[in-house]
Amino acid sequence: VRAKSDEEAAAKVAAANADSGGPTIFDKIISKEIPSTIVYEDEKVLAFRDINPQAPVHVLVIPKLRDGLTQLGKAEPRHVDILGHLFYAAKIVAEKEGIVNGFRIVINNGPTACQSVYHLHLHILGGRQLKWPPG
Ligand code: AMP
Repeated sequence: VRAKSDEEAAAKVAAANADSGGPTIFDKIISKEIPSTIVYEDEKVLAFRDINPQAPVHVLVIPKLRDGLTQLGKAEPRHVDILGHLFYAAKIVAEKEGIVNGFRIVINNGPTACQSVYHLHLHILGGRQLKWPPG
């Protein structure tokens, strides 16, 4: 487990590189160039297990087409449909994972939220008692 300061430093580097709009590791997951454990997929979204899980269930849901959605803060009116689709897919995943009665959706937006991958993603967390407030 990396120290918190490492997460913050990595997030700053990721943010500095984000404006290039270049590919992220998630492109290779979508193309299946690198392996992931997929838990749900349809024509628009992909859901797979986080490689560094923060809860017994930790799944990421991403749009297959980034279309400028490096982060939620870049959302435009054209993204409304895919945003709804992502949230509905998150509910399907929560049901499939048996956590629909208690789960959390997280979107880290930008360096002060420790966003590290600039391809919009919802974190679905569950399977244990979650604490509030989050860190
Ligand atoms: P964020 O910090 O909100 O940008 O979240 C990015 C997430 O992607 C982190 O929780 C990472 O653990 C996760 N992640 C990075 N690379 C991979 C990978 N190859 N497969 C699955 N999850 C990954």
